[in-house]
Amino acid sequence: MDLWIQPCARCADLYGKTSAEPPHHDLALEGIVPLRATKREEHYICSQCGAVFVRILGGTPSQQIWMLLNAGQH
Ligand SMILES: [Zn+2]
Repeated sequence: MDLWIQPCARCADLYGKTSAEPPHHDLALEGIVPLRATKREEHYICSQCGAVFVRILGGTPSQQIWMLLNAGQH
């Protein structure tokens, strides 16, 4: 994956939102990582900017967010 990409507008918008938010249409599902019976991570890559996202589903509500793994925090 590319490190420190510049996120496109849709990715910048999605970053930090809750997992209840659906993926935007440039995000492709790369894989699902089961963590526990009630918790999993979905990994996505953006075809526009190359952003790598993890969407956490399950667990405590404060953990259920969209995390952007390869962009600087500005
Ligand atoms: Zn993007």
